[in-house]
Amino acid sequence: MVVGADAAGMSAAHQALRTARRTGDELAITVLDRGTHTSYSACGIPYWMAGEVGSVDELVARTAEQHRAAGIDLRLGTEVVAADVAARTVTTAAGETLEYDELVVATGAPAIVPDWALRPDGTPYDMVGPVKTLDDGAAWLDRFDAAGDGAHVVVVGAGYIGVEVAEAALRRGLGVTVVTRGRGLALLEDEMSERVAVALCDAGAEVVLGVEVTGLDVAQDGAGAERVTGVRWEGDQRDADLVVLAIGVRPGTDFLTGSGLETADNGALRPDPHGRVADGVWAAGDCCEVRRRIDDRWVFRPLGTHATKHGRALGDSLAGGELAFQGIVDTSITRFAAGGQYLEIARTGLGRAEAEEAGHDPVTLVTEGTTATGYMPEADPIAVWVMADRDTRRLLGVQVVGGHGAGKRVDTAAAVLWAQGTVDDLAWMDLAYAPPFSSTWDVLQIAARRVAERI
Ligand SMILES: Cc1cc2nc3c(=O)[nH]c(=O)nc-3n(C[C@H](O)[C@H](O)[C@H](O)COP(=O)(O)OP(=O)(O)OC[C@H]3O[C@@H](n4cnc5c(N)ncnc54)[C@H](O)[C@@H]3O)c2cc1C
Repeated sequence: MVVGADAAGMSAAHQALRTARRTGDELAITVLDRGTHTSYSACGIPYWMAGEVGSVDELVARTAEQHRAAGIDLRLGTEVVAADVAARTVTTAAGETLEYDELVVATGAPAIVPDWALRPDGTPYDMVGPVKTLDDGAAWLDRFDAAGDGAHVVVVGAGYIGVEVAEAALRRGLGVTVVTRGRGLALLEDEMSERVAVALCDAGAEVVLGVEVTGLDVAQDGAGAERVTGVRWEGDQRDADLVVLAIGVRPGTDFLTGSGLETADNGALRPDPHGRVADGVWAAGDCCEVRRRIDDRWVFRPLGTHATKHGRALGDSLAGGELAFQGIVDTSITRFAAGGQYLEIARTGLGRAEAEEAGHDPVTLVTEGTTATGYMPEADPIAVWVMADRDTRRLLGVQVVGGHGAGKRVDTAAAVLWAQGTVDDLAWMDLAYAPPFSSTWDVLQIAARRVAERI
């Protein structure tokens, strides 16, 4: 019995079927999901909102019919509200009690909607909401149309979703203000994130850092209906026709309250590398924390790339295989492309504060260069932040902000982190070179070499 029919749940279900087929076992899989879609790319929603992806169908990797044709008993519109792990049953919102032998929790992480974003009776305002599901994406396209030309969007939160939604709104010709309580883009160190803030401003957005939104301004229109007109924080406000909530997600494990299953303080499950949580209970994806290999800590990193790997390892193990999720090195990437600006933004490893917390003596440096040899038309500016440990020379983190070809350079650094390599490994390893792609010493290697020299 799988609860949740997206990245983690369906990866687990299909891998379990594949492994069972290989071993000759028989497996009956039921998947329950409260939503209307399966296996869709939430990651693509901001690009759909921007108009880069033509239709919602392009975001669906596998339809409900395709899952059913593969032998999965998929029941959409079915919300699980409670689980009794001793009796091995789940209860649905419709009051049905369903038995299982093994339960897979793959319920993801719903968007955080703060109280100030809701009416006093707890219902949402029309022009305010998160960007999480395909239904949210469709609602945003309708709201963009309803608000019309010249409308102003306030995006609350400057994580990668905040940046991607700001890009979408700018590309649609809307006015944009990004407000965040942090000092910059959540993924990056200050000296890197300020480059993103500058690009947002150069593209025509306003960026307000270090403030905590506390409420909405609401007015009655001529017909007596309530309309959101602005966003407030201490000492200031901005007019707004639309308000995007991009302030994070939290593990969707409320239905396990009282089940006796242990969770972290944030509600996340902490499965072993095979996905096991307890006898007869498994979990994968955004409802879980993952183990970060660099400092051997549990961290909450709700990303699709983890959810699919996590789900696959779980499905295999559940059906008798041995695949294990290997943990993460905290790699992520996004893009900001609007108003004549183009930036690839990526990181891997720890931030400075995390490194210090883990007992390292970090040495950091930002190096500027180009993505190709300077005389080539492809050469775009790039900045690379590298952090290594002074005593062991171990590479601890790399962040990249730059033009075309900049972002995926972090994957090279991620490979070094994965193998617990040093800053010297990154500086001296054999990377591909030709003028359209890099200089003879790639900028990543120059940045690593400079940190090595500083140590
Ligand atoms: C706008 C956006 C952009 C993103 N971009 C990226 C990106 O570029 N790269 C990246 O790696 N990740 C990205 N992500 C994150 C990625 O989408 C998630 O990590 C991934 O979808 C997690 O998969 P999951 O299966 O764990 O959870 P989900 O995809 O959230 O699926 C959980 C499913 O469980 C169902 N469910 C929940 N509770 C219940 C219940 N009680 N009963 C029944 N069903 C239930 C839900 O309806 C849902 O279908 C993005 C996310 C968003 C929102």
